[in-house]
Amino acid sequence: MTRTFSFIILNFKNFKHERVIMTVRTGEQYLESIRNRSKVEIYVMGKEVKDVTTHPFLRPSVMSFKATFDAAWQEDTKELGRAWSPFIEEEINRFNHIHRSPEDLAAKVKLLRKLSHKTGACFQRCVGWDSLNTLNIVSNMMAAKGKREMRDRFVEYLKFVQKRDLALAGAMTDAKGVRNLKPSQQPNKNAYLRITEVTKDGIYVSGAKANITGVAATEEMVVLPTRAMGPEDKDYAVAFALPTDTEGVKIVVGRQLNDSRRMEQGEIDALPYFYNHEGLVIFDNVFVPMNRVFLAGDWEYTGTLVEIFSAYHRQGYGGCKAGLGDVIIGASADLAKQIGVEKASHVQDKLTEMIFLTETMYSAGIAASLNAVKLCESCWWVNPMHANVTKHLVAKFPAQIAQLSIDIAGGIVGTAPSEWDLKNPKLREYISKYLQGVEDYTAEDRLRMVRLIENVSMGVAFQIESVHGAGSPAAQRIMFSRLYDLNYSQEVAKSLAGRKSELKFTSKAEPWRESQSESEARESGLK
Ligand code: SF4
Repeated sequence: MTRTFSFIILNFKNFKHERVIMTVRTGEQYLESIRNRSKVEIYVMGKEVKDVTTHPFLRPSVMSFKATFDAAWQEDTKELGRAWSPFIEEEINRFNHIHRSPEDLAAKVKLLRKLSHKTGACFQRCVGWDSLNTLNIVSNMMAAKGKREMRDRFVEYLKFVQKRDLALAGAMTDAKGVRNLKPSQQPNKNAYLRITEVTKDGIYVSGAKANITGVAATEEMVVLPTRAMGPEDKDYAVAFALPTDTEGVKIVVGRQLNDSRRMEQGEIDALPYFYNHEGLVIFDNVFVPMNRVFLAGDWEYTGTLVEIFSAYHRQGYGGCKAGLGDVIIGASADLAKQIGVEKASHVQDKLTEMIFLTETMYSAGIAASLNAVKLCESCWWVNPMHANVTKHLVAKFPAQIAQLSIDIAGGIVGTAPSEWDLKNPKLREYISKYLQGVEDYTAEDRLRMVRLIENVSMGVAFQIESVHGAGSPAAQRIMFSRLYDLNYSQEVAKSLAGRKSELKFTSKAEPWRESQSESEARESGLK
């Protein structure tokens, strides 16, 4: 894997974000920046998209991403939306912040809940944020084991991102090919993204990353390995960062339920007109300059990296999905009023159950934050058990919340006429009469709330992302059995049952084992 001719050595100054240095950008500045990307290659339904900020399919996703920039300026979110960076000694947008305390981690969950109230959708920026925090810890571990250059490269990259307040995607999930084969055993050698050549100036990579949240709305991608690997998979153990509009990168945006409604130019049927998107990112022999390579063949760190990243993202779900729960609870309660059933005991009971489900997800996310684990100096990781519990709750509860909301709203969620019927002069009078319930509300009021429930509760962000985002439910169950010390609890039971027991009480309240990441940090002398 060598290449004989040399390249001009690239450094961060060669990248176009050089021109605009703005530590906390406004939403408008973000829009302006992604409007002006030069080589970006994005496809929606087979056609290339030149401007994502105006394209009807992608604009709602861009607007949802934009909310993360607006949060740093709006009065009600400004405090949560900003943080102090010791790396550049300036105030920055929290979405590029390295968590420095359990309170920082709790602020993340709170910010995500609030932003769901403003978008009713996934706002897509957290994956890049979690990638930065993951690389911060892993690069510290590498430095402790003598790979100082990886740490230095990462810190330079982090400063570059923070100074410019860049919009990042986190690209982790590979295409994966045959699931029971390791990367190096795959019949398609590029089923996992791999290094195809190494030169003194950088690396070449080929392969694809799948289901990449919000990628078409970003300026940079942080690419991470998707699974633990062994020495035979070292060509696949690769992490790096690149501008989204790097030559050779192609983004194919995936379809979603009801997505064509966004193209209709309406104002009701696709409410809330904020969405996320996911893309297949293809790397066709793409060059990555060496100063942006954070892992190249370092398979020993892949298991720890995946554990750290997934726990960070699983914690975040306690915020954003609870926030979407609030939207659905509010819409259901309002619809109940519109049809005069808000005082019925079964409706009250269903709303109470929805509140319980929502607050349970949130409580777990807050617990994962406030019981955080310090893995190195100023490296705060979430509590891995609580984070996995959070995501496992999120894999189950949104479906229940959606079902309860449909129960309250009625079959109209699946049968309502379109806004175009309501707007048709020949039909307006009839639809207004027959869709109305309690006199204080119009048919349009009802249609708006019905569409909000339909699109939020059954959309990708609340249903599919909740199950498979940040790892499938099986992945969390594996973590439960790894982290929970069943031997310890058996000894507790034996001792209480008056049987011979080898129980030795420790100062820990929980029967939990050390995670792989904690033991790696301890062995590296960081913890
Ligand atoms: Fe952020 Fe939630 Fe979307 Fe993940 S699913 S990117 S945590 S809003």
